[in-house]
Amino acid sequence: MNRVLYPTPSNGTDPLLLARADLRAFASYQSARSEKLLGDVWLNANEAAWPNEIDRDDALRRYPEPQPAMLRAALAELYGVTTQQLLIGRGSDEGIDLLVRGFCSPNHDAILITPPVFGMYAVGARLHGAGVVEVALQETEVGFQLDFETIARSAIEQRARLVFLCSPHNPTGVGIDRHSILTLAKQLEDHALLVLDEAYVEFSQIPSLVGDVAGLRNLVVLRTLSKAHALAAARIGCVIADPAVIAFLSRCQAPYPVPIPCAALAMAAISPSALQLTQTRITQLCRERERVDAAMRAMPCVHRVYASQANYLLVRFHDAQSAFDRLLAAAVVVRDQRAAPQLGDALRISIGTAEENDRMLAALCAAPSSRSDECRSPSPRHARVSV
Ligand SMILES: *Cc1c(COP(=O)(O)O)cnc(C)c1O
Repeated sequence: MNRVLYPTPSNGTDPLLLARADLRAFASYQSARSEKLLGDVWLNANEAAWPNEIDRDDALRRYPEPQPAMLRAALAELYGVTTQQLLIGRGSDEGIDLLVRGFCSPNHDAILITPPVFGMYAVGARLHGAGVVEVALQETEVGFQLDFETIARSAIEQRARLVFLCSPHNPTGVGIDRHSILTLAKQLEDHALLVLDEAYVEFSQIPSLVGDVAGLRNLVVLRTLSKAHALAAARIGCVIADPAVIAFLSRCQAPYPVPIPCAALAMAAISPSALQLTQTRITQLCRERERVDAAMRAMPCVHRVYASQANYLLVRFHDAQSAFDRLLAAAVVVRDQRAAPQLGDALRISIGTAEENDRMLAALCAAPSSRSDECRSPSPRHARVSV
């Protein structure tokens, strides 16, 4: 094997050397709000002269700030980073898309993913014409694990500019060890950005790596208000990275990515009182996760439940089709994972309220036919419930 693959870490390489060469000097669209002009008669953006009838407070007539300063400061404080290290986007999905467009030359560069994994990384790459290098998760006695050596080697050999890791991992629920991630980031320093998707980190025992972004210039962390903060419909997510990467990504971003109503909702959702309730919900959710995990392990129809650090469980069934059908018959919808590599017998089940989880568990135990892997007697209570 080629020994020059792993250069000595220097900690100082400019991560923008990894960006698309044709975009490094790209100036981007100069929106009406991005110029630092002072005035009180604004006639520069063809905005309406009067507010809409429904807009009583005249809050929506003008284009918004590209990065609402108050929200950016509040999110930076929430995550413990500087405002220059943080970019607000329309969910972390936009962050994924911006990274692919900014760092992969179409028909030339690639991303690396570790399937089975969240699908948006590959979707972003395919839409952009970037390659997708796959290094499969390895199943072991203790659950799924990453093959770090192969990830580093494949990324370098196959010109991956972005290596996507997800921790806790979707759909397995596995949390990835911090030391391994930092070591990989150092190995990739002159080759790729390591993008760590922490969409579920609030549910996990493993601390976030946002604090490591300052010391590792090719480390990028994605955070979102969609999961633990229960704000999926507001579409607010963040890229946390080296200030040079953030400035570059903001030049690649649409002019006004954060609608004012969404920014206001996000501000309210991360106020101290809202955060306190969110923390209570997270604790409650984790308790439910352990309860559901234990209940499912006791079911004869269940083959394997993976220990999860997120708000869902990945479960293998002896007969996944039958389990899926029993759930659907009770109007309980879960995520069918059977098309994913290595998961031909698995479903991913989000943790809901205690009542929802009970309904899910009861439906799994209900008998559709005279199968031998039933758990208990049928529970017809919910059989006819529809949405
Ligand atoms: C849900 C999820 C996200 C969140 O996406 P948003 O665009 O922020 O809603 C990101 N990554 C993973 C792995 C997810 O499962």
